[in-house]
Amino acid sequence: MCERDRKRIGNRGAYLSRMIKTDVAIIGGGISGLWCANELSRLGFRSVIVERNAHLGGHVASYCCKATDQCQRCGACLLEDVIEIIQSSDKISYHVRTNVTRVERTNGAFSLELLRRPPRILTEQCNDCRICLDACPAPGALARTPSGDRLFINEEACLFFRDRSCRACVDACPENAVSLDAADEEIGVDASSIVFATGFKPFDAGEKPRFGHGRVPGVITGLELDRMLKADNFDADQGGGSFRSVAFIQCVGSRDPRIGRNYCSRVCCGYALRLARLLRNRFPEIEPSMFYMDIQTFDRDFERRLEIARKEVRLIRAIPAEVRIGSDTRPELTYHGPNDEKLCESFDLVVLSIGISPNPAVTRLAQLLAARLNEDAFLGLNGDEVTTGSPGVFVAGAAQGPKSIDETVSHAIRAAANVAWYLNSSGPGDKP
Ligand SMILES: Cc1cc2nc3c(=O)[nH]c(=O)nc-3n(C[C@H](O)[C@H](O)[C@H](O)COP(=O)(O)OP(=O)(O)OC[C@H]3O[C@@H](n4cnc5c(N)ncnc54)[C@H](O)[C@@H]3O)c2cc1C
Repeated sequence: MCERDRKRIGNRGAYLSRMIKTDVAIIGGGISGLWCANELSRLGFRSVIVERNAHLGGHVASYCCKATDQCQRCGACLLEDVIEIIQSSDKISYHVRTNVTRVERTNGAFSLELLRRPPRILTEQCNDCRICLDACPAPGALARTPSGDRLFINEEACLFFRDRSCRACVDACPENAVSLDAADEEIGVDASSIVFATGFKPFDAGEKPRFGHGRVPGVITGLELDRMLKADNFDADQGGGSFRSVAFIQCVGSRDPRIGRNYCSRVCCGYALRLARLLRNRFPEIEPSMFYMDIQTFDRDFERRLEIARKEVRLIRAIPAEVRIGSDTRPELTYHGPNDEKLCESFDLVVLSIGISPNPAVTRLAQLLAARLNEDAFLGLNGDEVTTGSPGVFVAGAAQGPKSIDETVSHAIRAAANVAWYLNSSGPGDKP
């Protein structure tokens, strides 16, 4: 690298291997970040997407298509097309395995410092022989991207990155495709505006121990079920063929002021009904039930789909008090019936419809930029705003609050329009 391409960073004295100048830095490469970049490019602006994971797409990348004999409008397919556009755009660059380590506002613009971890498995050399998977002693250290096409090293689970105690994958690989020692790269970005597209954290079912996740065999979350169906290992992992009764429990981590989440996550009724119908379609012997408080019908087509679902899913208006291991070792639910009588019922599988929580990993960055948090602790102002109360700093998608994929895409497009207006407006005084 040529010395003149390096830039010395004041505070830390570190050297950056590259400097990038762009109109917009988008933090988060989920569906909101991607659609925001796509719209900005359509409006003539350049953007850099910073994604901490090894793949683009955020949570949506791990959702299966929920189509039965008909499309169920789950929205998961809105991801593929936009990824293709992003990858071929000359106005958009993206960095995966990358974190923002520093951000500063200078003269109305922003300078960011990024730390990019190198690919540990070299795609050109890896022939997917899986020998490394057999050699690896740490569960989850070698993982597949949600599309299933590539292996990557999950540094949080890998023993090498914990205490340098293991190099089993390097030693086992016949193609020399694993590289644990490559150095991280520091990249500088100068941008005129920033968009937080940092998404959400799925509610941790362990925070509701009465529902038995991690304690009662046969209790999983909706996210886990979705991932199993996507990877086509529902049968293998859970014995899908032998299941008959599956119970969905709604509002796990939503509409509960006792845990500071006094809001509806907006997507759980929709995704649970879609998953229930998909299960029935793939495994006709399965009889799904859904325990709910109220069915929330946010999207325009939902009422019609609910009528169809009613014929296939048993809807029970009650939230179980507890899930425990029954006498036949299956999960047993206790709940109150329509006349307030106490009922007990066992199911082969219980699926917890976990909700959407704010992403705590971005609070520090938001504070550094004086971006506000709304009443539910998501980024940005109340309502459906794309502004954050900090000039030049915007928010897109579920980082602002619970949203379906459809809603996320339109929010991201609106955020891009606001950024464009900000960048086009004459002086800092005129900007939001
Ligand atoms: C269990 C479950 C099932 C769902 N199913 C459906 C469904 O069937 N249909 C539907 O319409 N909606 C569904 N949703 C909602 C859907 O997941 C969201 O609408 C969508 O994921 C929002 O996209 P996003 O890009 O805003 O956020 P995310 O998908 O969370 O993406 C955010 C991205 O930002 C990255 N990121 C975060 N912080 C940083 C950082 N500091 N630096 C760099 N990168 C960062 C993350 O790694 C991630 O890639 C479901 C939600 C849940 C919880």
